[in-house]
Amino acid sequence: MNTQELDKKYILPTYARADVEFVSGQNARLVDANGKKYIDFTAGIGVISVGHGNKRLTDAICAQIQNMMHMSNLYYIAPQAKAAQKIVEASGYDMMCFFGNSGAEANEGAIKIARKYGEKNGQPKKYKIITLNHSFHGRTITTVKATGQASMHNYFGPFPDGFVYANGIEEIEGLLDDHTVAVMIELVQGEGGVQPLDKAKVQALAKMLKERDILLMIDEVQTGVYRTGKFLASNYYDIEPDVITLAKGVGGGVAVGVVMTSLKDIFSAGDHGSTFGGNNLSTTAICEVIDILNEYDASGALQEGISYFDTALEAFYSAHTDLFTQKVGIGMMAGLRAIDAETLAKVINAARAHGVMVLKAGRNTLRFLPPLTITKEEIDEGFISLHTAISSL
Ligand SMILES: *Cc1c(COP(=O)(O)O)cnc(C)c1O
Repeated sequence: MNTQELDKKYILPTYARADVEFVSGQNARLVDANGKKYIDFTAGIGVISVGHGNKRLTDAICAQIQNMMHMSNLYYIAPQAKAAQKIVEASGYDMMCFFGNSGAEANEGAIKIARKYGEKNGQPKKYKIITLNHSFHGRTITTVKATGQASMHNYFGPFPDGFVYANGIEEIEGLLDDHTVAVMIELVQGEGGVQPLDKAKVQALAKMLKERDILLMIDEVQTGVYRTGKFLASNYYDIEPDVITLAKGVGGGVAVGVVMTSLKDIFSAGDHGSTFGGNNLSTTAICEVIDILNEYDASGALQEGISYFDTALEAFYSAHTDLFTQKVGIGMMAGLRAIDAETLAKVINAARAHGVMVLKAGRNTLRFLPPLTITKEEIDEGFISLHTAISSL
């Protein structure tokens, strides 16, 4: 049986898969099983931050796993300690880290931090967490409930209590009560449509929450690790969150989730844990990814890539205002609002047929999450093919 036949026979059908199987990649270039070439503006949904087949990353991982792939968190793990130091130093925040395996698991950790904080600091007990409509926080029972999309709450109840959804950050203050312990938001909703929140409003929210002793938790699973041009989107917004979560780009393709917090003594031994989280393999990957991207940023290459990409996207947008109504996003997290969902689907399919991979976000946003190391040649090629794809519609 070929891959599609095996998949249809043995994989639970939770994904509406596109009809393509990639077999190799190099930075932002992909090759499928038929030998057809593509430019990748998706990076595995923001995961392949340093590109496909990155030699520095794969060499570091290979050297580590030939020696030791995994040891238990019952013992000290050198790359885990170093990865935490690198994350904290790059963040600019005085925080400590816990390592898990995914974005959802990182957000579970954040929610546990909030619940324990509310248990210790509230009279009456505080437990409610406010999130935003159109947010996305994960697929576990708790994080799917934290996700402000009713369509995702269809079958899986009863859910944990205490999630309240706001229609935008303006609405949050009016929803606070004596039981509210935290607000959890994405600064740029990834799945929700790539719309950055207003900086002044986020800063006012952060100030108001601090005054009321309510935690500000930022889900940076998609925005984190230079995706928006700074190490964290929180840096860009110039706020001091209490809890931050990371995943997608931080392992460069190795499964990992991180929850970091300034509440350094919130957990005691036994409060939280993970078998795989923070093992030698995944934290070696984190160390190398952060080293690569810190250097890429310091050399000016990241900002240069971002502004080159932005100029190309702007030109593409200007040429196709019959199909797109708005350009949104920050840094290498960009989007174009399509006139409707049908047009968007046509664009994504035509792009794939012409060798460019792009994503959907929300109902009608064309989303771009290229590898942060994408080259000017790759950007040019991708947009030339996108133009051709659109002309074919
Ligand atoms: C992808 C994503 C998640 C979920 O991450 P998983 O690794 O799939 O569990 C959570 N929050 C945001 C903002 C995301 O983009």
